[in-house]
Amino acid sequence: MKLLSFCAPVFPDGCRFTASCRLPDGAISDKRSASKNSSKRTEAHAVATSYIAYRFIGYPDKEQAMQMERTIGSCRWLWNRMKSDRDTMYKEMGIVLNNTPADYKDLDECSWLNEVDSYALGNVQLNLEKAYSDFLSGKSGFPKFKKKHICKASYKTNKDKRCNNVMLSNGRLTLPRVPGTIKLKYHRSVPEHLILKACTVCHEANGKWTFTLLYEYQAEEASLSERIERFLETGDDLSIRHIGLDMSLSELYVDSDGCLPGYEVNSVFVGFRKCYRGLENRIAKEQHKLSKMQKDSSNYQKQRTRIAKLHAKTKQQRNDFLHQIAVRLARTYDVISIETLDMSAMKQSLKFGKSVSDNGWGTFVRILEEKCEQYGCLLIKVSRWFPSSKTCSHCGHIHKELKLSNRTYICPKCGHVMGRDHQAAVNIDREGLRILTESYGKEAA
Ligand SMILES: [Zn+2]
Repeated sequence: MKLLSFCAPVFPDGCRFTASCRLPDGAISDKRSASKNSSKRTEAHAVATSYIAYRFIGYPDKEQAMQMERTIGSCRWLWNRMKSDRDTMYKEMGIVLNNTPADYKDLDECSWLNEVDSYALGNVQLNLEKAYSDFLSGKSGFPKFKKKHICKASYKTNKDKRCNNVMLSNGRLTLPRVPGTIKLKYHRSVPEHLILKACTVCHEANGKWTFTLLYEYQAEEASLSERIERFLETGDDLSIRHIGLDMSLSELYVDSDGCLPGYEVNSVFVGFRKCYRGLENRIAKEQHKLSKMQKDSSNYQKQRTRIAKLHAKTKQQRNDFLHQIAVRLARTYDVISIETLDMSAMKQSLKFGKSVSDNGWGTFVRILEEKCEQYGCLLIKVSRWFPSSKTCSHCGHIHKELKLSNRTYICPKCGHVMGRDHQAAVNIDREGLRILTESYGKEAA
């Protein structure tokens, strides 16, 4: 049997598989475990360590909320203090200071640091070190100070193997230094074989508390479905269920059957709607009110919360839709082909700005990757230089003069007429199958 693992090998022409795929014996990699360097793998069996996060909304009581607020505040203070000390030392003495939370705990004026979760403070140091190393390697800008109400109000704590400092039982969460247990909205159960590693506490801008629990597990090997095996042997594309998706600004995507994304609930069709656009007027109105208020007054803060709630609502609506669509695709098809698009370049083009971020294609691709991995379906990314919308799906002619404003494709060679997005999706689908067959041929040889 051929080996199979969840990995992302890069193919010479820039295309890559993101879900499970075939690899020559021994050549197994996992993008997450490779970076974490924590997997126990033998050469023949790919059992990679993977991570999964569960997020719950929580209802802490007053005392608990106060303690968590205090930890968040302490983390922010520590970040700013450690950063400022590092910067000053470097500027004045040319010394790179390796300060730790313990250096400050010993000071008399900072003894209150001893009253908050020490794991959270330890993570501040790690984050700061990462921020500096990212800056030095050119990955990001110079670390900034954290400002209250502007920066995300959150902290991360780790589970200690030796004691049950972080624990989830019966829908209640135990956190270090937080009195009692916090009640969670336990909307889904966590499988028992998962190992709890860390918890991120966040006080969202809309006033809600969220708790993100990070779990570790050993990823099991999935096997290629019989249908894909048959396709690779015979090359008969009727034996597999395959689909191509072409991104569309107005409808998320158009698939190679010419259909738009959507699903049915209680025989009502739910289609893609632009969540943000619907609430846009209301957000603008509330934003205008905010601009008239006195900064940092209590009404100002209340109004900010109101706006944050609206933003949170659009985000939740959009993410729910994307999850629903992605899971349906991954369950239905064996092979899904999509085009890789440069989202940042598209966002910069002024005309599309808002509608590209609202569309959520980047998020959709990320969710689709996860679901494909989960359901053992292949996700093939076609190079973005592939002329998907300019190629005639009937005769293969490449219509170079086709403009972005031409929504219908009329082939100048054979006269074939088709919707532009639909045609692109058909081409992406075919290209995906071609890549699959080709890379399989290469490995078999
Ligand atoms: Zn043609």
